[in-house]
Amino acid sequence: MATVTMINPATGEKIDEYIRIDAAQAADKLNKSHSAFKLWKNTSFEQRSRLFNALGNEFENSKERYAQLATQEMGKTIAQARKEIEKCAWICHYYADHAEEFLSNRAVETEAQKSYVAFQPMGVVLAVMPWNFPFYQVIRFAAPAIMAGNTGVLKHASNVQGCALALEEAFRKSGFPDGIFTNLNIGSNDVKGVIENPNVVAVTLTGSDAAGRSVASIAGANLKKTVMELGGSDAYLILDDADLDQATTLATLGRLQNNGQTCIAAKRFIVQQEVYEKFLELFSKKMEAAIMGDPTEESSYYGPLARIDLRDELHQQVEKSIAQGARLVIGGTIPQGKGAYYPATILADVTPGMEAFDNELFGPVASVVRAKDEQHAIDLANNSQFGLGSGVITSNNERGEKVALQLQAGSSFVNKLVVSDPRLPFGGIKNSGYGRELSSYGIHEFVNIKSIWIS
Ligand code: NDP
Repeated sequence: MATVTMINPATGEKIDEYIRIDAAQAADKLNKSHSAFKLWKNTSFEQRSRLFNALGNEFENSKERYAQLATQEMGKTIAQARKEIEKCAWICHYYADHAEEFLSNRAVETEAQKSYVAFQPMGVVLAVMPWNFPFYQVIRFAAPAIMAGNTGVLKHASNVQGCALALEEAFRKSGFPDGIFTNLNIGSNDVKGVIENPNVVAVTLTGSDAAGRSVASIAGANLKKTVMELGGSDAYLILDDADLDQATTLATLGRLQNNGQTCIAAKRFIVQQEVYEKFLELFSKKMEAAIMGDPTEESSYYGPLARIDLRDELHQQVEKSIAQGARLVIGGTIPQGKGAYYPATILADVTPGMEAFDNELFGPVASVVRAKDEQHAIDLANNSQFGLGSGVITSNNERGEKVALQLQAGSSFVNKLVVSDPRLPFGGIKNSGYGRELSSYGIHEFVNIKSIWIS
């Protein structure tokens, strides 16, 4: 019997071990999910809302338990883990309140006596999810998809199986019938068989572009719809009129939140040359002052990376960038002792062609890039294979808006870190993926948008 072991990344110690399910067990769960769909699709929005409000309440009432589980399995600080659970509650209540309005029929004037667009559920949706926000990423998919009348099956990241089970329990505890939300403890090699199963109608994935390419191509071969939320190397433009104190506070938070492992985190700081040295000086001070430590301690600003292999890979990217000409300003050495810790690191004078510019650095490492002027900053920001989020820091909002509109990304925020908000669509362009999650756009991804004509 294959098992998978959870390791606490702060200590390197084993937490628990879970048994993988085999292909026949997975097929059985997909059958049950499909049977559940046949009943669930006929339930009213009122019934579904009641259950999602109960799930939201469950996250609020048991916040500490879920937060501790996330901290233990993937190392985020306890304070940020609590915020993640609060956001799950928000999303559940948001879709409980708005799904019916988003999915109500839309009348369209034609020559028909009556014509309109209806939004109908599709069936069983598979979600392949990452470890970085082990609760939130799942709820971001599940709340809209299930409120729309679909059922969901989860293939969660191998290192957060306790969170995966806790999610399944949370649905059950909130009164959802069996089969509406199902955890599949399978490895990534078994995902192909699940996608090919006729009971599965669509797939959503959040993770690396490599995982996205593999899953999207299997789904494509089976003509099943996908939404891909992949990596990013978000550019933050620091314009010459920026308040540098504000800019560096945002930059520090943006780069260190979730221990640097956020797809929409600020990663490339593109700074106009007039303020470049001053920005670096202030940013270095703030990054060095942030406390790296035990994620269960309230005082820790950031904790370890989620796994040792991810930490080692990040360090190799830093070393490669230095060999390519980047200047190491702070950090850059693996600390002694247990755990997957990596210190806040700044690489300056980063240019296109370097690892730190071209690829995603998923950890507390900031790349600082010098721009000759505003247009050069925009060009550098857009010179990326990714296009998830982006930011502009300036004392002139009008100028910021003009720049924001020229950035190639799914989101561009002025004087604020990019955050996901259930009221706004979330997703990327280029190698950051396609499709949108959250808001009314997200709930329309996994429905049959159906035209009705009555002559
Ligand atoms: P992956 O993208 O490999 O994992 C994300 C999810 O996809 C997991 O459930 C994983 O399963 C699954 N998966 C991976 N490969 C395949 C595949 N070929 N077919 C089907 N499912 C697959 O992330 P990693 O944990 O390996 O992290 C690597 C890098 O990915 C990070 O350093 C970061 O750059 C990026 N990443 C980006 C995220 C984002 O939010 N944009 C989130 C996480 C990672 P399993 O765990 O079993 O391998």
